[in-house]
Amino acid sequence: MLPSCLLNNRSGFPTLTKRQPPNYDIETLAIISGRASGEHHGVVNTPVYRASTILHSDARTFETRHDIFDRYKVVYGLLGTPTTFALEEAMIALTGGHDAVLTSSGLSAVTISLLSFISAGDHLLITDSVYWPTRAFCDQTLSRFGVDVTYYDPTIGAGIESLIRPNTRVIFLESPGSMTFEIQDIPAITKIAKEREITTLLDATWATPLYFDAFGHGVDVAIHAATKYLVGHSDVLLGVIVSNKRTWETVRQTKTRFGEGAGPDEVYLTTRGLRTLPMRLKNHQENGLTLARWLEQRPEVASVLHPALPGAPGHELFKRDFSGACGLFGVILNDYSTETVRNMLNSLELFGIGASWGGYESLIIPTFPDRYRTATPWNAPGPLLRLHAGLESPTDLIADLEHGFNQLADQGTNSIT
Ligand SMILES: *Cc1c(COP(=O)(O)O)cnc(C)c1O
Repeated sequence: MLPSCLLNNRSGFPTLTKRQPPNYDIETLAIISGRASGEHHGVVNTPVYRASTILHSDARTFETRHDIFDRYKVVYGLLGTPTTFALEEAMIALTGGHDAVLTSSGLSAVTISLLSFISAGDHLLITDSVYWPTRAFCDQTLSRFGVDVTYYDPTIGAGIESLIRPNTRVIFLESPGSMTFEIQDIPAITKIAKEREITTLLDATWATPLYFDAFGHGVDVAIHAATKYLVGHSDVLLGVIVSNKRTWETVRQTKTRFGEGAGPDEVYLTTRGLRTLPMRLKNHQENGLTLARWLEQRPEVASVLHPALPGAPGHELFKRDFSGACGLFGVILNDYSTETVRNMLNSLELFGIGASWGGYESLIIPTFPDRYRTATPWNAPGPLLRLHAGLESPTDLIADLEHGFNQLADQGTNSIT
């Protein structure tokens, strides 16, 4: 017999607008949500449906077809298939949001969210710690359409009020920043935004739905680059926008107007990744903290930017608002030259040098926030590295870093040489 929660994708989730997820822990929801084995011959995973055309039973049904706001009445591949709906349902169950839509990348989830709520003549507030391509979209594209953009200090909290203008429509948050790891006081900002009828968008990629409750902290729209931990295997690009009741129709309509969507294989692999997300994330967290604690003790390190580390910047807010940390964090080195740091990075064997993160493998990259920050100049005493702790043995990872750091020590800092 099939478990009753898997009989069909509406059991426990009666309609799009009256969804009441059953009261399971989030780890259980990651396993059962968005599965409908009863509708797919009992197979465990919702299969890959490939569709542009979807055939109708008769002419009359075709004439009365379109309702883009009803997942079970959509009738064209772009609007979704059971493969798409499975992941949307799962993301709604995991986040407690009202609706979820899928886009072709994390960045398109960001841009569609912004375009849903910003118009010509509006003012937009964005955290200075924002993912750099989000910044480029605002500076180079939104600005062409007469949108006024102001970057704010990520640690501004309730001070955001002084930056609000009569035409401020959106406050964009990202916490922690995925390069510099400041934690924002999200409840303080969303409270003010609600009073002023400003929509809040949060890039929630770092914490995933598991470690930060975006809607519980007052956010209107939570954006996830599923490319990272949801997929978890560095082989898929996909974005998810989860919206609350007030915003969901605008988001779904904007996504559709732009012809945005995600390919079936990408969606399938993301849903597959989601099943092991809680277990993987726990491991990334442990390995990340192990590396961060080791790095804190090293003489080559000026500071470790890991919000879950006691004493690190943002730790108190992190403890209050987050239930865990992923494996991504930063390290500020002492004043070594770019060349010295390059040599150290090149000497590592287990840490790959590459963009993105959230896969099973460890990564390390140099980053340069001083090149683009505008609200809050970046004045670190030395180079900044970003590490992603993968799922390798932490003992091996530390041995690899130790080898690299010994080279750093041999070459000396700028102030010595
Ligand atoms: C990677 C990333 C994105 C964009 O995701 P893509 O799928 O690579 O487009 C957006 N926000 C954050 C914080 C990211 O790290």
